[in-house]
Amino acid sequence: MLRFYNTASREKEDFVPLESGRVRMYSCGPTVHDYAHIGNFRAFLLADLIKRYLRFSGFEVVHVMNITDIDDKILRRINAAGQGLGEFTEQYAEVFFQDLRLLNIIPADEYPRATAHIPEMVDLISRLMERGLAYERDGSVYYSIAGFPAYGQFARLDPAGMKDGISVDRDEYGKEDVRDFALWKAWVESDGQVGWEAPFGKGRPGWHLECSCMSMKYLGESFDIHTGGVDLIFPHHQNEIAQSEGATGKPFVRYWVHNEFVNINAEKMSKSQGNFYRLKDIGKSAEDIRAYRYLVVTSHHRTVLNFTLETLESSKAALRRLTQLRDRLWQASGDGEAGEWQDMADATLAEFRMHMDDDLNTPRAIAAVFGLVNQAEKALNQGRMSSGGAGTVLGFLEKVDQVLGVFYEVASAEPARPAGLTPELERLLQERQRARLAKEWGRSDELRDQLAAAGVVVKDTRDGYEWTWA
Ligand SMILES: [Zn+2]
Repeated sequence: MLRFYNTASREKEDFVPLESGRVRMYSCGPTVHDYAHIGNFRAFLLADLIKRYLRFSGFEVVHVMNITDIDDKILRRINAAGQGLGEFTEQYAEVFFQDLRLLNIIPADEYPRATAHIPEMVDLISRLMERGLAYERDGSVYYSIAGFPAYGQFARLDPAGMKDGISVDRDEYGKEDVRDFALWKAWVESDGQVGWEAPFGKGRPGWHLECSCMSMKYLGESFDIHTGGVDLIFPHHQNEIAQSEGATGKPFVRYWVHNEFVNINAEKMSKSQGNFYRLKDIGKSAEDIRAYRYLVVTSHHRTVLNFTLETLESSKAALRRLTQLRDRLWQASGDGEAGEWQDMADATLAEFRMHMDDDLNTPRAIAAVFGLVNQAEKALNQGRMSSGGAGTVLGFLEKVDQVLGVFYEVASAEPARPAGLTPELERLLQERQRARLAKEWGRSDELRDQLAAAGVVVKDTRDGYEWTWA
């Protein structure tokens, strides 16, 4: 039976999804204010590995990953560069999707953008205010930790510890408790053009809120798996739990699966240390990048991965060995028994499964695979591999690669359909909203027609508007 180490209980637990046969999973995605570094991709590769192994085990998987396209850094950069919000963020989103493709990551079903879900976020804040869990101060809205007694349990923090990790922004002096965090940040002069109207005043949503809101929108108020790096346990994931469970009164997530960091030459990656690598820095070829995937997926997600150029080289060598074996098997025509290979492949696959079931123990699972690889190489060298036997071993490799994804391509890494808006459509939506607020009805109708022509249906609601694809 598949077991995951669940950060919520700090124990390995049997995996049973809420709906039989169908798993709903959410992953914290990138903030598109810069290029992702190789450590970020460890989180996305973990989500991909989980998804692949669940599918391999017969589950259907619905996977959602957010794209954070509004935050303090983004605002600072667009205002410094005089760029539009969508124009700025989409250039990084595009590179991010290219990197996912290079890493052979199966696309999520949805990649919702924060800026495309403002009305839903305003709604969630209103629900929290109605339940006495949020309060407004000078146009900002804060979550009231005092109203959620379980706060800190998930992150295993004592009240003193909670205060340690928190920095108070200069514009947040209105908070009742230093631990309270912003759900909505009031618009300030330096935000420039960016801001959305809301019942509590013009502003923008907080980062923690966006994950609660979009995960529940696409996956329901309770869902199965939430992934992310260990650095997100506190405060981000603790805050997601407080927001979601505070608003719904229901358990939010059943299994929290976190990955450890990637260190570079045994040191923490940081821009100031000058050891901050993007995928293109370590990968001059597709083979290098595939080797990075191999290195990450064959290292256990709960141990710190120490990246060095030597470890990348040994991953490349292992991958080459697999590829060469595959090429030799295609041409095998020895005269050995085919039946024994079936037995060996079955036994090895059972072993592979056993290790993967144990909290995705890929180091052991890949060791089992190489046991069979050794046997097959030996048989080929001795001319004992028949085409029948070779076909069985090839079938085995293909099966294993459904999980590891190291040498067969996925069909396409494009999202099944666009979940977010293009910068142009986003601009039209915002312009229409501005026209409505200014009561310029002719102009707002005109913009609605333009959006409809592009396949976006806008509906006005009490608190703003909603949009869907036609
Ligand atoms: Zn998140």
